Amino acid sequence: MSSTATSLAPKEHVGVLFEQLAELTGQRNAIDGRIVDIVAQMEHDDLAGMTGARSIAALVAWKTAVSPHNAQTIATIAHRIAEFPRCTELLREGHLSLDQVGVIAERAAAGSDEHYAELAAVATVTQLRTAIALAPRPDPDPTPEPERSISKTVGEKYTTWRIRLPRLEAARFDAALASQRDAQITAWRHDHGDDHPGDGDGDGDASDHDEGDSGRTPPFPNTVDAFMGLVDAGWDAEAARRPHGQHTTVVVHLDVAQSLASLHLGPLLSEHDRKYLLCDATCEVWFERHGQVIGSGRATRTISRRLRRALEHRDRCCAVPGCGATRGLHAHHLRHWEDGGPTELDNLILLCPYHHRQHHRGAITITGPADHLVVTDADGIPLDPGSLARAPTQPPPAVTPCPGPTGERADWWWYQPFEPNPPPPSDD
Ligand SMILES: [Zn+2]
Ligand SMILES: [Zn+2]
Repeated sequence: MSSTATSLAPKEHVGVLFEQLAELTGQRNAIDGRIVDIVAQMEHDDLAGMTGARSIAALVAWKTAVSPHNAQTIATIAHRIAEFPRCTELLREGHLSLDQVGVIAERAAAGSDEHYAELAAVATVTQLRTAIALAPRPDPDPTPEPERSISKTVGEKYTTWRIRLPRLEAARFDAALASQRDAQITAWRHDHGDDHPGDGDGDGDASDHDEGDSGRTPPFPNTVDAFMGLVDAGWDAEAARRPHGQHTTVVVHLDVAQSLASLHLGPLLSEHDRKYLLCDATCEVWFERHGQVIGSGRATRTISRRLRRALEHRDRCCAVPGCGATRGLHAHHLRHWEDGGPTELDNLILLCPYHHRQHHRGAITITGPADHLVVTDADGIPLDPGSLARAPTQPPPAVTPCPGPTGERADWWWYQPFEPNPPPPSDD
C-alpha cells in the first residue's frame, strides 16, 4: 500500500496514511463493539461458569488472547451495556474506541450516557478520564468498610511503615505484640537478671533501649524488638510449613476404615471437601479407626520442598488452560492419595485454589498423566489453551472511517461536568 504513496509529498503522504488509519480504526471499533455484544450475551446468559473460567474477564483474556487489562475493559463495558446504549452504539458504528467507552463504563455515573457520548466524540481517553473525575460523585458505598492499609516511606536511613487496621484487627495486633514482648522480656530476665529499671510499664516506646547497659548485654526488648520477633516467628513458621503456603492449621480427622473425615471440633466433611482438603496435604491429618486415633501427620504424601520446586519448574502456573494464576498454587494429586495415587511428579499438577475447588466439586475434570493432561468442562468437552482467533472469512464491518477525537486542548474552565438528576421530591 505504501509503495504507491512514497512518491507523494510528506504532507500528502501523511494524509493518505491517516485515511487508511481512519478506515481501519472505524472497522476495529466496530469489531470491538461486536465483541462487547457477544461478551454481554455470555454474561447475561451466565455462560462463563460452565467454561471453567473464573470470571468473564478471564474468559475474554483466554479466548481472545488480549491482556488482562484489555479483557477487563471489554467485560466492564459488556456489564454496563444497558446503561450506556448510546456510547456502545457509537462503538458498534465505529465512531468511538473501546478504550473511550471503557473509561466511561468503568467510572461514569448512571444516566450519563448521552452526556459522555457527546463528549467522547471529541475527547481523547485522557480527557474523558478528567471529565469523569470532575463529575460530582455520589457516595458509592454508604457504609464503607474501614480501610486497612500498609504504606511505606523509604527515608535515607530508615524506612517508615504506617499500618492502619480496623479496631478488631488492631486489638489482635496489640495482643500479639504484647505477648511477644512479654516473652522477650522473660527471656531477657532469664539471661541477664531482673534488675532492669523502669521496665514494668510495658508501654514500650522506642526510647527504652537502655544505653547504660554497656555493650555486653543485649538491649532490653522494646516494642520494635517485639514486632521484629513477630516477623521472625512468622517467617520461621512459614519456612517450616512450605510448600504448604495456603491454609495453615486446618486439622482433619480421617476415619481410615470408612473414608469419613471431619474438621477438628467441626462438621463431617462431604466427599468433595474431604478430597479437596486432603489433596495437597496442607492440613494436619489425624488418622482414626473406630474413633481411636491410630496416627497423625503427613508421612506418606508430604510434598517435599524439592518436589514442589520441580513441580513449579515444570508447571509454572495453574494447569487449567487459560488460567495462568501463579500464586498460592496447590499441588493436586491426579489420582488421590486416598486411592493409592503416589506423591510423585507424574501424579501431581499445580492448580490455583479456585480451579482446585472447581475440580473437586466436579465442575471441571482433570485427568493425567501430568505430561498428557486433559482438562474438560462439566460436560466432558476439553478446554483448549489459547485464543479463538483465526483468519476472517467475512469482510470487515462496513462502517464510516473514524478519524479519532479532535485532540484539541480541553478547556476545563468552561466544561460542565455531568450532574445526576436530583431525586424526585418526596411529598411528606
Ligand atoms: Zn486435588
Ligand atoms: Zn486456575
